[in-house]
Order: sequence, then C-alpha cells, then structure tokens
Amino acid sequence: MTAPVPIPRFDTISDYHRYWSVCVPVLSINPRFLHIALDLCNTCNLRCSFCYLSLPAFRGKAIFLTAESIHRHLQHLLPFTRRLCLSCGYEPLASPHFTEILSSLAPYHIPQLDLVTNATLLSEDKIEAIIKNGVQTLRFSLDAADKTTYESMRHGACFETVIANIKRLAVRKKELGSRTPSLAMIVVLMQSTLHQLKDLVDLAKELGVASITMQHLIPFPGLHMEAQVITEKDAAPYDALIGPLHEYAQKNRIFLSAPNPFHPNPPRLDGWLLPLRSRASRLCQAIVNAQMNPSQNMQDITYGIINHGLRLVRRAYCPAHPFCRNPFNYIIMTPEGRAKACPYLDDAWLKVFDSGMPLTSVFLGDEYQALRQIMMDGGPHPAPCLKCPDCQLLNTKKRI
Ligand code: SF4
Ligand code: SF4
Repeated sequence: MTAPVPIPRFDTISDYHRYWSVCVPVLSINPRFLHIALDLCNTCNLRCSFCYLSLPAFRGKAIFLTAESIHRHLQHLLPFTRRLCLSCGYEPLASPHFTEILSSLAPYHIPQLDLVTNATLLSEDKIEAIIKNGVQTLRFSLDAADKTTYESMRHGACFETVIANIKRLAVRKKELGSRTPSLAMIVVLMQSTLHQLKDLVDLAKELGVASITMQHLIPFPGLHMEAQVITEKDAAPYDALIGPLHEYAQKNRIFLSAPNPFHPNPPRLDGWLLPLRSRASRLCQAIVNAQMNPSQNMQDITYGIINHGLRLVRRAYCPAHPFCRNPFNYIIMTPEGRAKACPYLDDAWLKVFDSGMPLTSVFLGDEYQALRQIMMDGGPHPAPCLKCPDCQLLNTKKRI
C-alpha cells in the first residue's frame, strides 16, 4: 500500500483553484467554483410543527448579520462564488438588514443568487430589492393547497398572505420587465398532504411557479412527527400517485422533482425519454432565460466546452475511489460564526470563527484541509460521511 501524499496548502483562493482545477482536476476550470450557503440570521417568524425551531432549546438570542459583516467575511470569496444561497436553516426575510445586504451583494454579479423563504414576510420593499438586485431563484415553502392544512403545520403563517405575496412579486416582475427571480416551490411531503399534491400543482401553475421540489419529512427528535412520515408501508398509494403527478406537472410546464417511488417499475422507453426530455427543456429554459449577464454566460459556455474536451485526460489524475467534492467547493456559514463543508458534518468538523475573520482562512485552513486529505486518500471517513445521503452519488470520476 502506498503512503498518502500530503495535499499542498495555499495562501490565496486563486492559487487553490488553479491547483484543484488544473493540476488535480477535482474542480471545473471556471473560476466561479464556490457554493456558499449563508444564513443572514438565526431566527424565524414561524414555528412549524416539524421544525427544530419549535423547541424552546433552539430559541436563543437573535443574531443578525449586517452587510458590513458579510463583506468582511466573504469579500475574497464572493468573486469566486458561483452559487450563493441566502438561508440554510432560518428565515432570511426576518433580517432587518435584508434589503441592504442584497444591494451590497449586487456588484459581485453572482451567477446563481438564490433565496429560500417561507414567503410570509415578503413586503413591497423586499420584493423590489429581490427583483432589482438580481436574485435568480426564489424558493418558497408551501406544503398544502388549502388554508387549514397549511396553517396547521406552519404555525404563525397565514395562507392568504403567502399567496398574495407571491402574486404581488409576479405582478411587480411583469411591471419591471424582469424574468427573474424564477419561482420554485418547496413541499415537505406528509401523510396529511399526500391527497392534495395534484391541487398543489394547480396552485403552482396559478402562481407562475417554474419548478416544484418535494422532499420527505425527516422527523426531528422531540417533535413527535414520526406518524406524518411517508414510509415503505405507504408504498402503494405513494407509488400510484407519483408517476401520474410527474406527467401532470409536465403537462402544466412545471418541472417536478420528487422522491422516487418505493417500488419503481422496470424502465420503459418513455421512462428513459422523460429525464432526457426534461434535461433538454431545462437547458432550453436556461438559454432562453439567460439569467446571467451575457459575458458570464459566454464564460460559462467556454469553460463548459473546455472541461468537456479535457474530460478523458482529467479523469486520469483523479483518485479511482468515489469521493465527495463538498470539502473542495462548499461553505455553510451561520450568523453565530460557524462554518463547515456540508450540512451533515457534526461539531468535530465545524470551524468557529470570530467576527473579524475572513472566511478565506477557514476555507484554506486546517479542518477543510483535513477533510480534503481524507477524500483524496479514500478514508478513513468521518462517521457522518459513512451514512451520508449524498455520498454514494458523489463520484467525481463520473462528474468531471
Ligand atoms: S419557516 Fe422554515 S425555518 Fe421557519 S420554522 Fe418553518 S421550517 Fe423552520
Ligand atoms: S460525504 Fe456527505 S457528510 Fe461527508 S463531506 Fe460529503 S456531503 Fe458531507
């Protein structure tokens, strides 16, 4: 067995990127390679029945990041950022600094600036800031198509307010002649909403939603939501529902992503064609929408062609074992000053940083380096990696 080769350390992000894209091609050669998930605050105006924020233990003193503190932490990383997602586990619109933060991010021209929200606090000034400062996708949570069911889960929310807010955003987009942000609906699947998924697609169509993402409820300990989880015992109704639902969404020109059936049928020809058709339609949508500025768009196409052309050569320089790329291009940052490479890693892999510290030193620092070394060596992995829901998918050999 050969001894592990220590990976090099770097002082700047551009040197780091050059090494991991050219010498060891883990990353694309596009200098916009980072994905940052940033919580603007550590609070939320709702107390959803399935969310850990319903538990008193998670209600601490509210902390709100300011535009100035974000600039201090991220100024050297934002020019390399491809995707910035505002919110990871809290409500970004609860921040009193929201509009100021958005304006301060605009000069960085981040290709994918996304917002995840419960849409209850979408006031007129926030809508204006979202459209004018280049938010590309607004992902909002709506798990039920009727008021009673929705409000019984989303404690503190008003169904009519959410619908009115989303409609107001769509009207303002039209008035300003803006294609963005595109609207994406996030749905947590539960026993109590399973019967109204088709109604949700109808509601999405009425609201001008481009895509719906459905995900299973993961019960948080202490919230007693286990009975709401859709499990193998619901395979028959769930499997019977989900195929036709995909067809219905497609007929309504909505891209639907939902958990696979528990017992999928053997693939048929149209089963193979469906994903291809949906990929092609997403590609066309991306070209038509041209959500990035033209030079960014051109740059992406150029780097895409170069990466594709070099694929065979580049594969030879990557480890043969499957490994995860998150430690190479992903940062989650919380307002309490914590950073880590993915949501699944526990405190042992969390870097606590102080308010004056740029995140570059965290990204190029010890914890990230140790994780990258493990990925390059093929182990020994931290415990969360061994039961990671994404791990088996992240085979860089297939993805470069
Ligand atoms: S809206 Fe989101 S962050 Fe707020 S309580 Fe509900 S699930 Fe939690
Ligand atoms: S394998 Fe999973 S747990 Fe480990 S770093 Fe990657 S995403 Fe995180």
